[in-house]
Amino acid sequence: MAFTLSEIMAARRQQSQAQSHTQRGSRTAVEVDEYSTNPTQAFTFYNINQGRFQPPHVHMVDPMPHDTPKPPGYTRFVCISDTHSRTDAIQMPYGDVFIHAGDFTELGLPSEVKKFNDWLGTLPYDIKIVIAGNHELTFDQEFMADLIKQDFYYFPSASKLKPENYENVQSLLTNCIYLQDSEVTVRGFRIYGSPWQPWYYGWGFNLPRGQALLDKWNQIPDNTDILVTHCPPLGFLDWVPKKMQRVGCMELLNTVQRRVQPKLHVFGHIHEEFTTFLCPGYGMMTDGTTTFVNASACTVNFLPMNAPIVFDLPNPRTT
Ligand code: 5GP
Ligand code: MN
Ligand code: MN
Repeated sequence: MAFTLSEIMAARRQQSQAQSHTQRGSRTAVEVDEYSTNPTQAFTFYNINQGRFQPPHVHMVDPMPHDTPKPPGYTRFVCISDTHSRTDAIQMPYGDVFIHAGDFTELGLPSEVKKFNDWLGTLPYDIKIVIAGNHELTFDQEFMADLIKQDFYYFPSASKLKPENYENVQSLLTNCIYLQDSEVTVRGFRIYGSPWQPWYYGWGFNLPRGQALLDKWNQIPDNTDILVTHCPPLGFLDWVPKKMQRVGCMELLNTVQRRVQPKLHVFGHIHEEFTTFLCPGYGMMTDGTTTFVNASACTVNFLPMNAPIVFDLPNPRTT
């Protein structure tokens, strides 16, 4: 891929701005990136010109064995995503706070939501946090209204649903805290959750890349400790090998790195396996400030083979 000299000079200018933005404590408003609509090109461009997605800026993190003792004064987060109504065989590890980053069903059918909620009820964690993903069609009210207008053209299996079956589908989740562009503080950690992702075949919570998604990310408070989204940010655990594409969101990356700077960013959506350093799916990475976790339980064949990812954070000091 070739870039013009003026593009490279523009990237260098942006790099020095980015470096000043990411100095500790400095946070800036994020604007739509000029490469926003082409994430694969954006990845290549910012990697060639800024080394933004490779050491020393980025490192892989080995997932922690589930039997690692938790240090005193820490909270253990158990992260999982993309279980797609296939929870029966999943072994859940010890921990304090459970986080599910969306796609817990195939179509968001109330029967699936009830089954998922029953499974949540069997889990021993003090706190359970759940967000929706693109498969939770019924959680996206605008999507359902459009689907009815199109006579369920894309999703015939949802046509059996009557509006009264899904109007209050969130209320079926009685065994967790459900976040949808909202936050909760637990054990002193500020946790924010959001289900949106870049448009892909017209599923739930799809939005075009650029300003529409940035408007959602702009709702994330500055001091969020743990961010939970369904989709990955650009360049982190977002590689789809069969398409040779990066599919993460550029505006989410800039929001995470330049403004919010959470300690932990949990997501899923991309089920692909880890292949090489530059082409990972399920797993963990860090940029030194934020640890990124793609916790997709399901593989690309929708088999729930990937273990939940555990992560310890020191408890915030209460003054
Ligand atoms: P899901 O349907 O569970 O949301 O996503 C399952 C798979 O669809 C992913 O593992 C990935 O292979 C593919 N996928 C999801 N979103 C995108 C996207 O935006 N672009 C591409 N190329 N593939 C995607
Ligand atoms: Mn999924
Ligand atoms: Mn998904």
